[in-house]
Amino acid sequence: MPNEDIVLYLPIMAEADLQKIVSHCKEYGFIFPSSEIYDNLGAVYDYGPFGVELKNHIKEYWWKSMVQLHENIVGLDSAIFMHPTTWKASGHVDSFSDPLIDNKDSKKRYRADVLLEEKIDKLKEKGEKELTKKGIDLSSPEEDKAKASRDYAKGVALEQEYGKAAEAADFKRYKELIEEYEIACEVSGSRNWTDVRQFNLMFATKMGALDEAATDLYLRPETAQGIFVNFLNVQKTARMKVPFGIAQIGKAFRNEIVARQFIFRMREFEQMEMQFFVRPGTELEWFKTWKETRMNWHLALGTPQENLRFHVHEKLAHYANAAEDIQFKFPIGFKELEGIHSRTDFDLTEHQKFSGKKLQYFDSELNQNYVPYVIETSIGLDRMFLRVLSECLKDETLENGETRTVLKLPPALAPIKVAVLPLVKKDGLAEKAREIFDTLKFTGRFFYEEKDTIGKRYRRMDAIGTPYCITVDHQTLEDNTVTIRERDSMSQERIAIADIEKTVGVKIDMNNLLRKAIA
Ligand code: ATP
Repeated sequence: MPNEDIVLYLPIMAEADLQKIVSHCKEYGFIFPSSEIYDNLGAVYDYGPFGVELKNHIKEYWWKSMVQLHENIVGLDSAIFMHPTTWKASGHVDSFSDPLIDNKDSKKRYRADVLLEEKIDKLKEKGEKELTKKGIDLSSPEEDKAKASRDYAKGVALEQEYGKAAEAADFKRYKELIEEYEIACEVSGSRNWTDVRQFNLMFATKMGALDEAATDLYLRPETAQGIFVNFLNVQKTARMKVPFGIAQIGKAFRNEIVARQFIFRMREFEQMEMQFFVRPGTELEWFKTWKETRMNWHLALGTPQENLRFHVHEKLAHYANAAEDIQFKFPIGFKELEGIHSRTDFDLTEHQKFSGKKLQYFDSELNQNYVPYVIETSIGLDRMFLRVLSECLKDETLENGETRTVLKLPPALAPIKVAVLPLVKKDGLAEKAREIFDTLKFTGRFFYEEKDTIGKRYRRMDAIGTPYCITVDHQTLEDNTVTIRERDSMSQERIAIADIEKTVGVKIDMNNLLRKAIA
């Protein structure tokens, strides 16, 4: 019988930082850099054997919470390629671009808007420290905080100036602000900047055999437009009545200028988007409802509330009448995880204009035709993956002084649910363990392993987040019982083989997580 059961564990010793997550993902088969044997392709990643399972479970959690639990939401899987006019109508051809700026000395490229936003945050954070020292309440109004701290005042002033420049799309002003506020390159330390240039983020390609006749296409930069152009197809065939939603999970592509934060910002990524079509005038109420629904979905995973927050968009896109992000406290700070936007009737109206086809709904209760308003919830699957790893990857020091790395995933998301491990290969234990594995593999993704010492196998299962390990030992041959080891407490219990399914079934069941998400 393994002797680990007497070791208790102490609270978390260190939170995982981004670099640790990157190495862990590589070492344990979650994520590999793309085309690694050719020295990688920037900001593109491949999901390995355990990564793909975790990713699929996150998708399942999202999809079921949308489509299975809402009778007025249906799914769609639209193509990546779309008619090029789609992107003209959506505004992506003309304005889906980032302002880029280069440092002439280091040749390092930055997003000018990000440089300014980071400076604002830094000044305000510095200001908040000063305010705390002076005993001033951090929840007091902006102007009071600005009066009491010079740095805070500078942060607010820059925010206002930047806001005006962004609204006017005045990129010359961006550069002036970068100079005025003495923003330096993190590599060269110099303030020797180029002008700010606009850079469209869409990847272009061609469809057709002959160059002259080929059509210029784009790889979609978001999945939402596939939903908008199919609005009537879906509404009619699924016999939906407003309010109703269309959900979609799919790849999106953006030629990001600055893509240095692992899977936080990728050039090829996946989005999980839902467009909810509502009566004009009711959109702000629905916006509120979807904000709450989505926050509950995040909290159901057991995340402490202080690691999640709403961020209100001060500068709204021209088509939106409300927009907030759900931000998560990543190892790189609080950053956008999901966007919730009230997009008015902008997209459908533009597609009507460009296609010449009506995209209206007849509301029989009102006896009226209208273009519905839309609330969008849009979350990056890969960003969600990073969030799950950031909060679940822990280094623990055990009471006997040993350390272990454990991925404390919610069991419903874990790549492997149960590992079946013969204590040793001989004496018929391997055969007995295989028999258990073959019977139980229909319950969920089980895993069989006989190589290495039992202690090493436990550690490996901890590192990939397997919630349960079942050990088959000599006693198993006598009385058909096994030990079941629980990942987080490391406690071990003897149970009958016949009870395994019942014992683990409740914990690994996705439906239990879904119940929490809508509670
Ligand atoms: P950001 O400000 O971080 O660039 P965004 O506001 O452009 O994001 P949206 O267009 O609202 O993002 O996309 C919705 C969601 O898609 C984001 O909340 C994020 O989770 C995800 N996402 C967007 N761009 C990327 C990317 N390059 N890599 C990974 N996920 C992304």
